[in-house]
Amino acid sequence: MELVYIKTYGCQMNVHETEKMYASFASRDIGKAERAEDADIIILNTCCVREGAETRVIGNLGLVKKLKENKRGLIVAVCGCMTQQRAVAEKLHKRCPFVNVITGTYKLPQLPDMVERVKNGEKFILDLDKDERVPCGVNAAMRTDKVSAFVNIMYGCDNFCTYCIVPYVKGHERSRRSADIIREVTELVERGYKEITLLGQNVNSYNDGETDFVKLLDELSLIPGDHWIKFMTSHPKDLSDDVIRLIAERPRLAKYIHLPLQSGSDRILALMNRKYDMAAYMHKIEFIRKLMPDAGLSSDIIVGFPTETEEDHLLTEKAVKDIGYNNLFTFIYSKRTGTPAATMDGQVPEEIKKERISRLIDLQADIASARAAACVGKTCRVLCDGREGKKLKGKTSADRVIVFDGDAAVGEFADVLVTSSKNSKLYGKAVK
Ligand code: SAH
Ligand code: SF4
Repeated sequence: MELVYIKTYGCQMNVHETEKMYASFASRDIGKAERAEDADIIILNTCCVREGAETRVIGNLGLVKKLKENKRGLIVAVCGCMTQQRAVAEKLHKRCPFVNVITGTYKLPQLPDMVERVKNGEKFILDLDKDERVPCGVNAAMRTDKVSAFVNIMYGCDNFCTYCIVPYVKGHERSRRSADIIREVTELVERGYKEITLLGQNVNSYNDGETDFVKLLDELSLIPGDHWIKFMTSHPKDLSDDVIRLIAERPRLAKYIHLPLQSGSDRILALMNRKYDMAAYMHKIEFIRKLMPDAGLSSDIIVGFPTETEEDHLLTEKAVKDIGYNNLFTFIYSKRTGTPAATMDGQVPEEIKKERISRLIDLQADIASARAAACVGKTCRVLCDGREGKKLKGKTSADRVIVFDGDAAVGEFADVLVTSSKNSKLYGKAVK
C-alpha cells in the first residue's frame, strides 16, 4: 500500500486540515505513514501567520530533498497558508524545483488528484485558484485522538487586523450549514468523543443565513451525551452576552473562553484595527467572571507592534495582571508582507521586542501559578485524556491541566479533588 506523510505547521485549524487530507488519501487506498522516511508522498501543510513557521518549512524542505535523492519516485507537495501567497509559491518553486505540487489553502480536497497527475507524468503543478465554496455534509477526517475532536464551523476571516495575513490567504468568512455541523457533532459524540472543539477564525460571527453562533451553540449543547463543547477563536468585539449566558447555563459547554486581547493599549488596539478598547474588553471579562467565577480564560498577546512604546507595553502588563488569565500565548510582532502594519513607521527593534516578551512571560508564569494555587481544595470535573508516568492526566472544564491518582480510563470523566499545584499545573486525587 502506498503511504502519505503530512507535516503540519501552525494552528489547530491546520492540524484538522491535515486530518481531513489523510481521510481523502485513505479513500484512495493511500495509507498514513508515521515517518517521512516511509512515505511515497510527502506533504508540507504550511502556516505563515508568523515568520518562524515559514523558516521551519524551508529548513524541512532541505531534509525532504535528501529523502527524494534516495527515493526516485517520491512525490513532494507543499500546501497551506504560506504557499497561497503567489510570490512565495513562485520563489519556492525556483528554490526547490524538486517539489512536484504547490497549492494553497483552497484546493486541499483536490490534492490526491494532483498527486495522481504527477504519477501520470506531469512534472509540476501550481494551483492557487481561490475556491470559496463551503464543503457540504460531514467532513471526513482521520482523527488520531480518540477523546478530542475538532470540527470546522466556518472558514476565512473578514476582520483585517492590520498585522494579520489570515484574511489574505484564507479568504472571506463563510459558514458551514448548521445541519451539517450538528450531524457531525452528533456522530462524533455517538462514536465516543468527549471533547469537541468548534473551529473558526472568529466563531462569534458564524452565520449560515438562518442560524447564528448563539443558536448553533444552543442546538449543539442539547445533543444528548456526556461530553464538552469548546470553541475557538472568539473575537472580543463579537463575543455576545447571550453566548456568555448560554455557556454559564449549559453543562455541556466548557467553562473556558479563549479571548485574544493582543494589546492592553487603546492606541495600539486602534492601530491594529481590533475594533474594541480596554473598557469594552474588561466589560466582557467582568460579565464572564460574574456568571462563572471559575471560568478559564486565555489570550493571545502581540508584543512590539509598530510604534509600541514602553508605556503601551506597561498597559499590556497591567491588563494581563488585572485579568489573570490561566494561560497566555505571547508572540513577537512579525512583519507580514502585504499587511498594513508591515509598512507602518516605528517598527520596534528586535532586542526591545525580546526584552518585552520575556518580561511578559515571567509575569504570566507568576499569575498562572497563583491562579493554580487558588484551585487547591476545590473539586473539579476532569476529562481524563492520558497518563503521566503512573498517574492519570486530564483537563478541567476551565482547560486546566491536572495530574491525578484514580482509576478512570482515558476518555472518562472523574471528579478530582485538587490537593496541590506546581506552576500552572494542578495535582489531585479522584473522589468517589
Ligand atoms: N483568528 C484568531 C487567531 C488568528 S492567528 C484571532 O483573531 O484571535 C493567532 C494569533 O497569532 C493571533 O491572535 C495573534 O496574536 C498572532 N498573530 C497574528 N499575526 C501575527 C503577526 N504578524 N505577528 C505576531 N503574531 C501574530
Ligand atoms: Fe487575523 Fe484578526 Fe482575522 Fe484573527 S480576527 S484571523 S487576528 S485578521
